[in-house]
Amino acid sequence: MKKNIAVIGYGGMGGWHVEHLLKSDVANLAGIFDIKEERQQAARDKGIHAYDSLEQLLDDPSVDIVTVATPNDVHREIAVKALAAGKNVISEKPVTVSSEDLQAMIDAANQYGKLFTVHQNRRWDADFLAMKEIYESGVLGDVFSIESRVHGSRGIPGDWRGKKEFGGGMMLDWGVHLIDQILQMVKEKIVSIYAVMDHITNYEVDDGFKMNITFQSGKVVHVEVGTSNFINLPRWYMQGTNGTAIIYDWDLSGKIVCCENWDEKDVIPVKTAAGLTKTMAPRKDDTIVEHSVPHPTPDVHDFYRNVCKAVDGLEPQLITHPQMMRVMKVMEACFESDRLHQVVPFKE
Ligand code: NAD
Repeated sequence: MKKNIAVIGYGGMGGWHVEHLLKSDVANLAGIFDIKEERQQAARDKGIHAYDSLEQLLDDPSVDIVTVATPNDVHREIAVKALAAGKNVISEKPVTVSSEDLQAMIDAANQYGKLFTVHQNRRWDADFLAMKEIYESGVLGDVFSIESRVHGSRGIPGDWRGKKEFGGGMMLDWGVHLIDQILQMVKEKIVSIYAVMDHITNYEVDDGFKMNITFQSGKVVHVEVGTSNFINLPRWYMQGTNGTAIIYDWDLSGKIVCCENWDEKDVIPVKTAAGLTKTMAPRKDDTIVEHSVPHPTPDVHDFYRNVCKAVDGLEPQLITHPQMMRVMKVMEACFESDRLHQVVPFKE
């Protein structure tokens, strides 16, 4: 039977959830609630039921699940209220703004025996799944370095995302996605973290960052979010002992280049103004082989399919409490590293 889902916060992302729920094969949209009357009216204008208050929504016994799509600072308060009212809860990302808040949410889920998860929808991004497939296939040999970047040039958005009190900043906005993706790809313990936050267009919160995660094997992952980039660097760059993979953009353009012949002879040096270099000379075509990037075709609605089954105990929930907490602790380590200007150890 389809689950009834209500959406709290009918802004940009709340609207996205509503659109998806309206055509869902596993859920019905019960309605929405937003603190802004104009958003309530916008829903009604589209024929969507708008509850008069959060309490009225939570009192509706037909609502099985609520999706919280408000600014980040109120996720905890709303999620805990909803769990206490006997609802299963999906929080938008970042699940909340600190590990202390998250622990309180997890405690509430355990206390009231309800499902509680976060919408890490970028686990279904095709570029991420393509890179994960390359990583897991072994085609690159031992992967020793991964770089994951998203770049824009418009600064941090001018809404609540630029304000600390609402849980703004690019680490909590985009960092949470990129970190979650990496932790799904590299199944190793983290040893240490180093991060530098940008404050180019905004001094109150980070408007981008660069971070390195060092894993137990020595593998280093560089994660970068930039909002002052007028030229984008590739979305993904991965190096292994046998080859290199690149994905330039969301459209999955890219390539995998692997070594075919290590015994390369007669390398033609590159002439530079200051001298010759064989070390940096390009490889000859007969020593390398190029493979195309895989093109997975994920369906992001599998997130809701999983949640609806998990509520009935038919499947384990895909995005688990320990995964949520680990991502939160990595983000906290980034803020600490930036504050101290130091590499910080990561205990797990
Ligand atoms: P938004 O500003 O467009 O919308 C937020 C809405 O919440 C507004 O309409 C506001 O009136 C309402 N609101 C604020 N406080 C409320 C409260 N206490 N109760 C009810 N409604 C309240 O913001 P957005 O871009 O939709 O972001 C909302 C959440 O979704 C954030 O947590 C954000 O990080 C997340 N998000 C996720 C993705 C994703 O890809 N997963 C993308 C965008 C945003």
